[in-house]
Amino acid sequence: MTSHQALADSVQAPLLAGWRNGFAALGPAFFTELRPTPLPSPHWVGASDDVAALLGLPQDWQRRDDALQAFTGNALPPGSRPLASVYSGHQFGVWAGQLGDGRAILLGETADGLELQLKGCGRTPYSRMGDGRAVLRSSIREFLCSEAMHALGIPTTRALCVTGSPAPVVREEIETAAVVTRVAPSFIRFGHFEHFAARGQQAELRRLADYVIDRYYPECRGGANPCAALLRAVSERTAALMARWQAAGFCHGVMNTDNMSILGLTIDYGPFQFLDAFDPGHICNHSDAQGRYAFDRQPGVAWWNLLCLAQAMLPLVGEVETARAALSTYEETFVAELLRRMRAKLGLQQPREGDGALVDALLRLLAAGRVDYPIFWRRLSHAVAAGDFEPVRDLFADRAAFDAWLLSYEELLALDGQAIAADLMLKTNPRFVLRNHLGEQAIRAAKLGDFSELQTLQKLLARPFDEHPGHEAHAGFPPDWASTISISCSS
Ligand code: AMP
Ligand code: MG
Repeated sequence: MTSHQALADSVQAPLLAGWRNGFAALGPAFFTELRPTPLPSPHWVGASDDVAALLGLPQDWQRRDDALQAFTGNALPPGSRPLASVYSGHQFGVWAGQLGDGRAILLGETADGLELQLKGCGRTPYSRMGDGRAVLRSSIREFLCSEAMHALGIPTTRALCVTGSPAPVVREEIETAAVVTRVAPSFIRFGHFEHFAARGQQAELRRLADYVIDRYYPECRGGANPCAALLRAVSERTAALMARWQAAGFCHGVMNTDNMSILGLTIDYGPFQFLDAFDPGHICNHSDAQGRYAFDRQPGVAWWNLLCLAQAMLPLVGEVETARAALSTYEETFVAELLRRMRAKLGLQQPREGDGALVDALLRLLAAGRVDYPIFWRRLSHAVAAGDFEPVRDLFADRAAFDAWLLSYEELLALDGQAIAADLMLKTNPRFVLRNHLGEQAIRAAKLGDFSELQTLQKLLARPFDEHPGHEAHAGFPPDWASTISISCSS
C-alpha cells in the first residue's frame, strides 16, 4: 500500500459504524463463526442506493474499494462478527434434517438493527455437497426481485448489491461467481425452530423464541402465553404475505420450511417467477416435478409449513389445542387479505356484497383464456380511467364471457366512482413486473460485462407504477422464447 493510500484510508469514514451482533449473542449452538472465502478480482454488478441509505452507508460507497472487498467477503468491515447459522427443515414435504447457511454468512447488524448477510461467499460447515457459491445469474435475479418486491409493497429481504468475480462455478454449465449482500431485520426461518425441536434442545428452543419475541414481536410479550401469541402473529403475517403473492401473481418456487421467514418476509429467491399468462397451476421450479409449489398451492403450503412450525413450538406453547387456536386465524386472514388486495386491483374501495364472487369469476376467465396477468390489470386500470374497455376485451377469446363479467364489474364500479377507482388501480397494478424474460435479458448482457440493462430494469422496477415513457417494450407481452426459460433449484 502506498503512503498516499494509507493516508486516504485513515481519513475515510468507516463504511459501517456501530455494529451489533444480536444473533451471535444467542450462543454457539446457533451458528459457527467463520470468515467468508475470498473471491479474486471482484467487480460491481449492481447496487441499490435506497438500501445503502437505509444502512447509512457513506455517499461514495460504490466508489470505495473497501466496500467492494467487504461485500464480496474479501475484507470484512471492522466490528462485524461473521457466522453461518444452523437450521433444519422440511424440503418438498420431507424432513431433511440439518441444513443451515450453506453459502451465506451473516456479518452482524447495523446500529439500527438491520442484519447484513453475504450470499455466495464460500463453504460453511452446512454446505453439505454444495460449493458455497452462487452464480451471477441467480444473484442478479435475487437482487432485482428483492428490490422489485419492496417497490410493490410486498414484505421481503432487501438486497444492497451484487458483486461478481471471474472465478468459475460449475453448474449445468460453467458460470461465474457472484455475491449478493442481503439485508433484513432477521434471517431467522421456521427451520431454526424445527432444528432445536427435532434435537430436543429445549433451552435453545426457548432462547430462540424469547429472542424473536423480544426483538421482533414485543407485542406478544404481554399476554399469558407469549409463544402462542408469537405463533399466531407469525401465522397472520404469513397469511398476509400469501395474499400479497397471490394478488401479485408471484410464484416462489421452493417453499420449504427453511425458506420461510419468521418475520413473514419473502426470502431465498431461487426459481421464482411472476406469472405471464394466468395459469393457476403454474410450476416455476423446473425441479418441482410434482408441482408441490405450484402457484395456486402456495397458500396451502404455507399452512402446512405453519403446522411444522407449530409442531416445533409445541413444547413452548403447551397444549395442542392452544397451538391449534393460535393458527386458527390463518385462513380467514388469508381470505380477507386476498380479497382486500383484489378489491384494490379492481379499484373497489368499499367491501360490498358480491365482490368476492366478482373476483372468483374474473380469475376463472383469466385462467380459461390464459390471459396475460400483468397486462390485463394495467389495461383494466387504463380502461377504467378512459371509460373504454375495448383494449381489455381484446385480451379475451371468449368476449361474451368477458362482457358478462364487465357488466357486473361496472355496476360495482359505479357505486364507488370511476375516477377514484382508476387512480387507485394505477397505483396498485404495476406497469413493470420482473418477468422471467426481462431478468434473462439483463443477465445475458451482464454476463458479457454490460450492466446497462440491469440498471434500466432496476430503475423501472423501483417505480413500477410510473409510466416511464420510452420503455414500452419492458411493459409488453413476453416473447415466445420466454416459455423456454428453465429455472431449477440449483443456482
Ligand atoms: P435453498 O433451497 O436454495 O434455500 O437451499 C437449501 C439448502 O442448501 C440451504 O441450507 C442452503 O444453504 C444450501 N445450499 C444451496 N446451494 C448451496 C451451495 N451452492 N453451496 C452450499 N450450500 C448450498
Ligand atoms: Mg434456503
